[in-house]
Amino acid sequence: LRAREALGRLTAVVPDFPSPGILFRDLTPVFSDAEAFHAVVDAISEPFAGTFDAVAGVEARGFLLAAAVAYATGTGVVTIRKAGKLPRAVYSESYDLEYGQAALEIHQSDLPAGARVLVLDDVLATGGTLAAACALLDRAGAAVVGCGVVLELGALGGRTALAGRTVHALEIVR
Ligand code: IMP
Repeated sequence: LRAREALGRLTAVVPDFPSPGILFRDLTPVFSDAEAFHAVVDAISEPFAGTFDAVAGVEARGFLLAAAVAYATGTGVVTIRKAGKLPRAVYSESYDLEYGQAALEIHQSDLPAGARVLVLDDVLATGGTLAAACALLDRAGAAVVGCGVVLELGALGGRTALAGRTVHALEIVR
């Protein structure tokens, strides 16, 4: 698969970022390579072809994927943002980080009721982020068709946090 080959070649693995002991997978070289980005955008939406009316991206790297997939598939794009960024009425979901908590928000009225939505982010780690994103879409009256990520860090249990959701990863690393 072209996408997986590109990921293997271009993903930068950065020790001790953002804190000591964390092995960070940096996908920015994948996004900045024209062929790799094209292959990744095609491959991330392919399992969900024809099943969605809109694509939700999680701030910030999820935005890059969601906008590209929405444009390529003739669907709309929705932003799931960090707390305090959206100007109109929002739903808000808190979730746990390694240290402390964070919250994600979605506009209450960006989607028509029953819209079928694909949720995208770059990396699935513990699953807290995507679980919160899906919960927001549920509350907004959307039907989440599934979650797509470029990389899944398989040892961190993200699939458990997303039990009952359809999850596709282009690559799973242990
Ligand atoms: P989770 O909530 O633990 O699943 O973490 C996923 C979120 O953290 C996503 O929005 C990712 O962008 C980010 N993240 C966690 N680990 C990495 C990594 O190794 N590389 C890039 N992003 C990461």
